[in-house]
Amino acid sequence: MPFTVAIVGRPNVGKSTLFNRLVGKKLAIVDDTPGVTRDRREGTGRIGDLEFKVIDTAGLEEAFDDSLEARMREQTEHALDEADITLFMIDARAGITPLDSHFADWLRGRDNPVILLANKCEGSAADNGIYESYGLGLGEPFPFSAEHGVGMNNVYDAIQPAY
Ligand code: GDP
Ligand code: MG
Repeated sequence: MPFTVAIVGRPNVGKSTLFNRLVGKKLAIVDDTPGVTRDRREGTGRIGDLEFKVIDTAGLEEAFDDSLEARMREQTEHALDEADITLFMIDARAGITPLDSHFADWLRGRDNPVILLANKCEGSAADNGIYESYGLGLGEPFPFSAEHGVGMNNVYDAIQPAY
């Protein structure tokens, strides 16, 4: 079994963008419209000297009807069950939303090791969101930008100790 990393978080925080960067291919669909990544995607991720299986998930609330929501919740739970480490991602530009808090509470109720990644940190517009994210109770956030590829050393530092 390869070391397995799951990327979770509410819609639009940049999960698929990180997945694409780790896998190095445009496998995941990136879109501004919440709900686009409905199928779970897996690939071989690489960062520095680490190689691992990475799972991109849909956001828990990324649902149009009850059955879809149930399917996606199940999908996220399967990913968490399989993962050695879970990367919980927030959008630091948007700040902490009620959905982020809800998701963080749900994660803290499980035994998965969770690392908090603060995405969209390519500029000072993210500073307040980084500060707010300490309130999620998931430890210190690792700031980076999936789209701009800034701070990928922090993503490395987030994964490496568990590897
Ligand atoms: P997902 O729903 O969590 O999978 O999010 P996506 O990866 O589909 O990204 C949602 C939106 O955020 C897209 O418009 C991305 O281009 C944008 N995005 C992703 N990463 C960054 C980032 O580091 N900085 C900024 N400013 N936008 C980003
Ligand atoms: Mg996505």
